[in-house]
Parts: sequence; C-alpha cells; structure tokens
Amino acid sequence: MYGVVTGEVDEYGQPADDTVVVALAGDPLYVGVKLLDQQYRLEDVRLLAPVLPRSKVVGIGRNYAAHAAEMGNDLPAEPLMFLKPNTSVVGPGDPIFYPRQTQDLHYEGELAVVIGRICRDVPPEQATDVIHGYTIANDVTARDLQKSDVQFTRAKGFDSFCPLGPWIETDLDPQAFVDGVRIQTHVNGDVRQDGTTADLIFDIPTLIAHVSSVMTLLPGDVILTGTPEGVGPMEVGDEVEVSIAGIGTLVNKVAQR
Ligand code: MG
Repeated sequence: MYGVVTGEVDEYGQPADDTVVVALAGDPLYVGVKLLDQQYRLEDVRLLAPVLPRSKVVGIGRNYAAHAAEMGNDLPAEPLMFLKPNTSVVGPGDPIFYPRQTQDLHYEGELAVVIGRICRDVPPEQATDVIHGYTIANDVTARDLQKSDVQFTRAKGFDSFCPLGPWIETDLDPQAFVDGVRIQTHVNGDVRQDGTTADLIFDIPTLIAHVSSVMTLLPGDVILTGTPEGVGPMEVGDEVEVSIAGIGTLVNKVAQR
C-alpha cells in the first residue's frame, strides 16, 4: 500500500516525532493521489521501497570531480551511463546481501531522481516537468568486479544492490540542488561521505536530457545522480546510512547471502 508521509525532515534527514502516514488508494504514479481515510504513525508502519522502477534504474558514474579523482579516473566529457536491473531494488531496512563473488563491496550514497511521466528527448529547460520527486539511493558496487569486468552490469546488478528510500520527496525546489544539498553516508555511525549536490558535474536537467536522448523514460524509472568522494568498503553486519538534507535517511544492514 502507498501513503503520503506528512511533515518536514531536519537538516540531518530525520523526520519529526509526530510524523504520520496517510494511506493512498492505488499507485500514485498511475492513478494520481487519492487519499484514504486511514492514517498511521510513521513509527508503526514498515516502509518498503518507495518505487519499483517499471523498466530501469539508470546510474551515472563519475559525476563528482573528487570521486572521479579518488578512483583515478579523468572527468567525463559527457555523463557516463550504466543500468542497474529493477530487481536490484530493495527498501529501507532491507538487507544488502554480500555476494560470494566479491571481496570488496562498496557503498555509494546518492541522490536519486524518480521520473513521473513517459518521456523522450526532454530539453533541459523542461526536465523538472518529468520529475515525480527525489529519493535516496545506495549504489552498491562490487568494486573488484567493476574493475575486472570493465562492464558494470555484474558489479552493480546483484539483487539488493539498489536500496531506495525511505520515501519520495515530491515537494522540493530543484534549485536547492544547484545551491547545494548536503549528502552524507555513515557506516556504523562513522561519517564516510560528506558531500554537496552543488558539486555535481552534470546537473539534474542535463542528466535527464542526456538519458532521455538515448532511451524513453517511464513513470517510476529512477536516475542515480552519482556519488561524492569517500566511497569505501562495507562488511557483513555493518549498518549503512545515507542521509540527504530535506529528504531523509536510508538505513540498510549488510548480511551474508
Ligand atoms: Mg554510483
């Protein structure tokens, strides 16, 4: 079941104590927002992934200069695209499974854009018209397989490699990302990434224009905008939190497969 989470989150991505969830009829991406006369306290509901992409999660690589540098890569001349299967998506609180095929599993905290309309060849100046909202992603990556395979499909495509959530923020001025929204990743409470969307090399309208010049985007498709510097390993048992100011905090634990 879908619902509307009311209220604001603070600069650390934490919701207020009195936050409630109002239930919705059907899937709001298809039937619009139809409120039901049912309301729950946020702490009493279990949140699932706020969207299951109908066709794809489009990842963008090397979209923060400091992250490209830490990986030893040059800056891309145009956005570097890859795909994650929709079967990689899990929700807040779901386990990230550590595959037996890797010895170097990394977190990548990212801002994610949820597409609201079928679209193709979207000009940058109309990009905000096709955005349903924003959520948080962990672009989980088997770093050793990414290097050995060259192609990213296996390294980024395992089941559970795309936690999304905790919800979709639909009421955010996109100018905020240009001005700079803080994005942080903590592992077991220690800060590992502390970036700002002001450092995005290619901004969100540019990414939507670029991706939609190649492939049609469907309602519920997700674009990951890239990760700031500070990527690193996760171990079984680690708790990984990705927070974006004004959106929320996505928490997942790493588990043995
Ligand atoms: Mg990434």
